[in-house]
Formats: sequence, C-alpha cells, structure tokens
Amino acid sequence: MIEELRSYILIIVFAGVLSLIICLFSYLKLKDSPGARHYIIVTFLSAIFTFSYAFELSSSTLQEINFWLGIEYFVMPFIPAFTLLMCFEYVGVKLKQKFYYALFGIPLITVFTHHTNELHHLYYVSVRLRTDTPFPIADMEYGPFFYVHSLYLFICLSISMIILLLQLKKSLFRFKLQILTMVAGLFVPIAANHFYLNDLSPFGIDLGPVSMSLSFILHGIALFTFQMFNVLPIAREKVFESMNEGVIVLDQNGTIVDYNKSIQKVMPMLNTFSLGKPIGMVLNEDEKLRELIILGMDCDYECVKGTQIAHYQVRFSQVVNGNGTNIGTIITFVNITERVELQEKLKQLASYDGLTKIYNRTYFLEQSNRKLDSKGRKERNACLVLFDIDHFKKINDTYGHETGDLVLSHIAELVKDCLRPQDLIGRYGGEEFIVLLFDMNVDEAFEITNTIRIKISESFIRNHDFYNVSVTASFGVAQVQVTLANQQEAIKLAIRNADEALYEAKRDGRNRVQVFKENMQFK
Ligand code: GH3
Ligand code: MG
Ligand code: MG
Repeated sequence: MIEELRSYILIIVFAGVLSLIICLFSYLKLKDSPGARHYIIVTFLSAIFTFSYAFELSSSTLQEINFWLGIEYFVMPFIPAFTLLMCFEYVGVKLKQKFYYALFGIPLITVFTHHTNELHHLYYVSVRLRTDTPFPIADMEYGPFFYVHSLYLFICLSISMIILLLQLKKSLFRFKLQILTMVAGLFVPIAANHFYLNDLSPFGIDLGPVSMSLSFILHGIALFTFQMFNVLPIAREKVFESMNEGVIVLDQNGTIVDYNKSIQKVMPMLNTFSLGKPIGMVLNEDEKLRELIILGMDCDYECVKGTQIAHYQVRFSQVVNGNGTNIGTIITFVNITERVELQEKLKQLASYDGLTKIYNRTYFLEQSNRKLDSKGRKERNACLVLFDIDHFKKINDTYGHETGDLVLSHIAELVKDCLRPQDLIGRYGGEEFIVLLFDMNVDEAFEITNTIRIKISESFIRNHDFYNVSVTASFGVAQVQVTLANQQEAIKLAIRNADEALYEAKRDGRNRVQVFKENMQFK
C-alpha cells in the first residue's frame, strides 16, 4: 500500500472519529435542541459510512470491496434525508407525516436497488478492480439508479440550503453567521460530489466521506462557536411569530428588515419579497397606512376589511445602538378592537335612552353645546323645541304602561324622521322631548314644528290588544340666543323659554305649537 493511500485512509479514519465525537457530544449535550436530533443521526450514519469507506479503501479484493460498499449503502442513502430534516427543524418548519414517507422513499429504493444489483444492474452496470492505480480501487460503471440517487442527494442539499438562506434573510445579524456556516457545510459535499462524478478526484477516490466530515466540522463550528442549535434564535422567532401584536422592523432608511405574521392582518401585502424593500414602496397601494408610517407618530388606526373594522394602537419605538445612533424603528400594531367596541357600547348606553333610542337628556345637552360651539356662534340661528304628550297619563291608565311605552317609541321615531340629519332630538324626561333645530329662525321652526304636531295627531299605533292608539302633543319653541358668551347659558335659557311656551300651549288647550315671546312671562 503506497504512502498516499495510507495517509488518505488515516484522514478518513480521523474524519470518522470526528463524526463519532460530534455525534456523542451532540447526544449528551444538545439532544433537545432544535435540529439536533437529526444532526445526531446524520453524524452517526456518516461515521459508519466513513469507517466502512476506510475499510473499502484498505481492501485488496473485489469481494472485500463489495462487502464494505454494501455496508456503506445501508446508511449513506439516508444522510441527505436527515440533513434536510435537520435544516427544516432548525428553521422551525413542521412537516406533515406524508412528507416523511416521500422523503425516505428514494433512499429505501436506493438501498434495495444497490443490494439487488446483481439481478438487474440498475445501480452499477459493472464493478471491477482498477488496474491503472497504484492500489486497488473499484471501478464502477454506473447504471441509471445511481444517477437518481445523486440527483436526490443534490436536491436534498439544495433545498436545505434554500431554506437556510430564506431564514438568513429574516434573521438578526448574529444568527446570520451561524446560518452561513451551516450553508457552507452543506456546500462541501455538493462540490465533492461534483469532483467525483466528473472524474476530477485523485485516482477516482470518492471524496464523499471526507467532504461529509468537513461539512460536519463546519456544522460543528456553527454548533460550538455560534451555538447553532441554541434555542435562542428559534425562541426569538417563536415569540415574535406568536405575538398578537403586529410588528414590523425598519432600518434607518425605512427599509423593511423583519416582520411577524400578525402584522399581515394590517398589511396583507407583506411577504418575504418585501424584505429589503422600502416600506413606502410596499405600502404604495394603501395611502392612509403609508402616510401614518411615514409620519412616525404614535396614533390609533382603523383597518377596514369589508364590513369589519379593526382598531389598532400604533406605537413607534426607535432602535438605538451602543453609540446612541438611531439604527431603525420597531412599529407595533396593538389590536384594541375589543376595547374600542366596549367603549362605544358603554358610550351608547350612557348617551341613549333605552326605550326610545334617542339621546338622553345629558347627552343631548352635551351635543347641543358642542355643535353650537363648533360652528361659530354668530353665524347660525338655532331654535329649541320642547314638547310633551297630552294627557299621557290617561294612555297609561286606559291601555296600560306597555302601550304607553309603545307610544313613546313611536313618537320618538316619527319626530326623528321629520328632522334633518344635523338636527338633534332627545328625551327630556317622562313623556317630554327636546329638539334643537339648526340654521332656522323661529318662524321656520314654527312651521316644521307644526307639521310634526299634525303628523303626531294624525298617526296612531296598534297596541298588543289591537287597539289603535293615538295621541297629541303640545310644543314650545324658543330661539337660542347664540350670541351669548356662555353657550351652556344660551341653551339653558332657551329651555326655560321653550318650557314657558309649552306651558302656554298646554294652557291654551293642548295640541298646539307656541312660540316663546318675551312678554309671555307677564301673562
Ligand atoms: P299633560 O297633558 O298635562 O302633559 O298630562 P299628562 O298626563 O301627559 O301629564 P302627567 O305629568 O300628569 O303624566 C305623565 C305620565 O307619563 C305619568 C307617568 O306615569 C308617565 N310616564 C313617564 N315616563 C313613562 C314611561 O317611560 N313609560 C310610560 N308608559 N309612562 C311614562
Ligand atoms: Mg304630558
Ligand atoms: Mg309631562
């Protein structure tokens, strides 16, 4: 046996021992880390393969060579499959059972085809000893199934690299190095296979086993130096992905660096291709959201999807490096829909009268003041109307309280329908209602109020006992003196005056509209 071969076998044995050590270490220390389970299997299979190959190289007869080849082919076909699984597990992708069957199908066929080669010669067309080399080496003429296996190996390693590289795009810098080391580790066997298949390796020696160990050394470096299977990147990813809050990370130029799944509810246009692109460009279809992000101020955001409205609280946090330089922004969208809806419900309960579904007294007054204030008092005329159902007590006494309630709802509905959208209506108390008519003088207010009065008197409701019940109402109308310095005083005074006029209307026989006049008080 010549010196080169001896050295080569030594290197291979060393590679095998290394694989075993890594396997043992991983088994003892890293068993539960993501990806480690498959890494342990791969290193173990690789150790068996490597030692068998060392024996194959030391063999002097074709029979011995065939024996060790047989051992190699019990383990080697599964290595690409476990490598791929290791990478999937590392990046946190859960695979379906079906995928496992598909993945192990080809290696099983390879093992079978290899061991039954004598019968069909589909794996090796011929195996003979090379005579032109200084030591005995098996010279194989490969059959079609050998190339199927090679393609399978290539595809598995390529997919492994692709999923790692995709993860690389999404990872923080310190995890980038470990992923790159792992990718390099995967690249070594591909290169070795390329050399071997193109007859570029010295004496036609299969570089596979050594390349594999080299690959594990690189994985080992990733393992020891960068803590390849450390739970941290996965944990970070898991927490980040499972957060209810939508998060998007931008660098100082507004380029998208990272995002989680939840943010896609707000920005459905985000996908892996958005990484590295300016946020403004990715959001160019959504002007409102784009402006909000560019403005960069904490705010509330309403996301409308069909008939559904989701409410978000948007927070911007600056990312500052050790030198105090701003290097990016984390934007968080917290879904506050439940809170907003609850607030709206509470507001609704606090603002509306439960029976008539119009404003209650307090909210009516609040709204009146707000509306009069917001439009510049001097510019607008407003009239206040108070009305009270006539002899309502009799309705209750005759038909019952339930019918009384029906009448109240009916009147509220009827009057609301007669008003313009800008006008306000509220239940002032019992069977008394209050209306604020904007941009109207008293004459116009009288007209509209009189129309309402007639409509009430002409309408009826059918109660539960099928009686048609009708009522009349009396109205007091007063101008709101919007020139008064104190808005609340203006409304209060108008109510007092309208009440005075209403009293007049009642006194004058009911079912009437009375406009307040200054001299009324002296009647
Ligand atoms: P007037 O023409 O002078 O206004 O006589 P009236 O009977 O309408 O006035 P009064 O103040 O004597 O009676 C008002 C009645 O309204 C008494 C009260 O039981 C009834 N009432 C107040 N709130 C409700 C309500 O929510 N539902 C029902 N059904 N009745 C109510
Ligand atoms: Mg009444
Ligand atoms: Mg009353």
